[in-house]
Order: sequence, then structure tokens, then C-alpha cells
Amino acid sequence: MTDRKAQLAENLARVEERISAACAAAGREREDVTLIVVTKTYPASDVRLLHELGVRHVAENRDQDAAPKAAACADLDLTWHFVGQLQTNKVRSVVGYAHEVQSVDRLKLVTALSSAAARAGRELGCLIQVALDAESGERGERGGVAPDGVERLADAVTAAPGLRLDGLMTVAPLAGPYAGRQRAAFDRLMELASGLRASRPAANMVSAGMSADLEDAVAAGATHVRIGTAVLGDRPRLG
Ligand SMILES: *Cc1c(COP(=O)(O)O)cnc(C)c1O
Repeated sequence: MTDRKAQLAENLARVEERISAACAAAGREREDVTLIVVTKTYPASDVRLLHELGVRHVAENRDQDAAPKAAACADLDLTWHFVGQLQTNKVRSVVGYAHEVQSVDRLKLVTALSSAAARAGRELGCLIQVALDAESGERGERGGVAPDGVERLADAVTAAPGLRLDGLMTVAPLAGPYAGRQRAAFDRLMELASGLRASRPAANMVSAGMSADLEDAVAAGATHVRIGTAVLGDRPRLG
């Protein structure tokens, strides 16, 4: 094994232990939680090593970086998640490689994703990103729709050709009433997810939890955790 592969293997094993322990503590099955490795800022060669180590879900947050990386790894059976704020002029590119867009947060984006997916003849999975720190009718600092906007967006995704509503995503807020209260934030997300599932049972994905707070997310009931630094190491600061 190369040094890098050994390091990734060790990090993955540690994350795997954390997820397993969190599942055990919550009385959940390990297979009910999917690990998504967030490979942003790291090269395609790392994605390849992660695939060799058994990773099948990866996530990126910037199309400029993600598009060439996905192209370089097109031979691998990977599910690509897009988790960043998405401008409509990038939608066509993102639809070319992403299987799941986790950051759907406005009607204009739903329309753009739908026409790109339909044109490409693809069905694209969508998660609605919830900003738990956003006021009614607004969007969050780091993207996401305010909780009271979820239903309207869910209806739009459901009605949009080429799109499939899969569930909800959130990033624990840095500000507002949930700042520093990850567990409470994820509990609130689960409440919203239950509401969504009541009328749309197939929309059962709940994406929450990052390197620092995956235990809180698993305890709350997340089905997908998005882990970057704990697997790949600290990211160089982006400008
Ligand atoms: C970067 C990122 C992650 C991973 O964060 P880490 O703290 O590195 O685990 C998860 N979700 C989103 C939306 C991200 O942008």
C-alpha cells in the first residue's frame, strides 16, 4: 500500500468505528447509515484510492473541481453527490455527473435541474437543503431554504420531469437558535423529514452530520453522513 492509501485506510477505519459505535448507542443497524466521503479540494487520485478501499459514495461542493474529477473517475462505480450552493449556470454540468443533488433550495434551481435532467434523459435524485437558521421565506447563509419553504419545494420537485424527491439535507447552523446545538438541529431536521415522509414515503433520505458531529446526526436518525476531513485530512483554506 502507498503511504496515502494506508493513511486513508486508517482514517476510514476510525470513521467506520465512530459510525458503528453511534449506531449501537442509538439501537440502529449499521447498514441504515450510509457514509458519503466529501472529497472536495482533494485530487481524483484520492477518490480512486477511496474506491479501492470500498467507498462507493463521494460528494463535492464546487462544479469547477467536481466535473474534471468525476470525468477522471468515470470508470469507477461511484455515486456522486453534489452538496454545495449551486448556481443555475452550473446545473447542466452538474447533471452530467451527479446522481444526487443535496442542495436544492429554490424554485429556480428546481426548474433548471429539471430541464437539464430531462434533456440528458436522466433521473436526478434531489434532497431539499434546509437552513435551520433562516427566517421564513429566506435562504440560509450557507444555502438552504427556511423550514416553512420545504413543502412548496417538495411539491415542485415531485412535479418536475427528470427529478426524484429523495429527502432532506442540512448543515448544522453556526448562528441562530441552533448554533452549537447540533443534536437539537438534527432532531428538528428529523421532524421535518417525518412530515415530508407522511405524504411522500419514498423521500426517506436524511443527510446530516459531518466530521465533527456525525454522532449527533446518527443519534437523531440520519440515513447519510457526509464526512470530509476525518477521512482525507484537514483541507487547505480556500480563498
Ligand atoms: C465540506 C462539507 C462536508 C464535510 O465536512 P467535514 O467537516 O470536512 O467533514 C459536509 N457537508 C457539506 C455540505 C460540506 O460542504
